[in-house]
Amino acid sequence: MSINIAIDGPVASGKGAVTKGLAKKLGFSALDTGAAYRAVTLFLLDNDIDIHDEKRILLTLNKIDLRIFSAQNHDLRVFTQGQDVTPRIRDNKVSLAVPVVAAYIGVREYVNRQIAAVASQGNYIMEGRDIGTVVLPNAQYKFFLTASLEVRAKRRKADLDAKGEYYSLLEVMAQIKERDEQDINRIIAPLKQAPDAIYIDNSNLTLEQTIDTLAKYIKL
Ligand code: C5P
Repeated sequence: MSINIAIDGPVASGKGAVTKGLAKKLGFSALDTGAAYRAVTLFLLDNDIDIHDEKRILLTLNKIDLRIFSAQNHDLRVFTQGQDVTPRIRDNKVSLAVPVVAAYIGVREYVNRQIAAVASQGNYIMEGRDIGTVVLPNAQYKFFLTASLEVRAKRRKADLDAKGEYYSLLEVMAQIKERDEQDINRIIAPLKQAPDAIYIDNSNLTLEQTIDTLAKYIKL
């Protein structure tokens, strides 16, 4: 029987790095579901499709040809219409638009179908916003990962600085807060802790310490 681990949490809570690190440690595959929502959003932005035009977006979905590959080294590649868009899905314009797009039920159904196709076999660690609550309600292990707003903003700012996208810490804090509120307050599959998820605040933990904290709960 395959084993699934669900990791949910807000923006810049460390889910991505923790998922990759834990997957390496346990020999599991890793799947970043946010990458799928980001790829859909990037496609809409590239094609000048208004992210508030739900009807048009739903009609566009069957043209996207979204493909997600989880590579051997746990790196994820995302393709739309045969093109590798992985390097661009984390641009800040995508980050700011994605919660609007991810709130549409049609988009969520579309992404969940792609995810199910990837994760139907093998042991997976999947990370996102609704993994423990909606996508993998029967996951053997569920974690809700978070950190203080300030710590998360500092992490996010470091990522953006490294990409040459410069914002003040206060701006990044405001952007994170707004994105989280959109994810928490949407009607369909909002960001929330599953009742059976283990809550981990990693504000004062290094990446290695966070991975070890999660690993201690997992008995294979
Ligand atoms: O995790 P990441 O920041 O890359 O996710 C980008 C966005 O995708 C989130 O802010 C959220 O709006 C959406 N998302 C979602 N459900 C998931 C994963 C991501 O709604 N399972």
